[in-house]
Amino acid sequence: MSWMYRAACRDVDPEIFFPIASPDTEAGEAAETQAKQVCGSCSVRARCLDEAIESREPHGVWGGESESARRGLLSGAHGRTS
Ligand code: SF4
Repeated sequence: MSWMYRAACRDVDPEIFFPIASPDTEAGEAAETQAKQVCGSCSVRARCLDEAIESREPHGVWGGESESARRGLLSGAHGRTS
């Protein structure tokens, strides 16, 4: 996946994208916020999010979206009728 070479997170601590702390804790929320800030400046964000959704990536922040947000996007896509 050559797009990964252009990822803004290449040199960032992966812990903020895959925190040990639960997302509903203060530490987990802080990590998610940091990760989303990195994603916000990433030139391959859309591609990253597409890959995460297509592969049903169950953990972490990908493409600026948490796992719960991706599940919502996925269920919304399946619920569409047109
Ligand atoms: S969108 Fe976020 S997780 Fe995806 S490659 Fe860019 S910085 Fe990394």
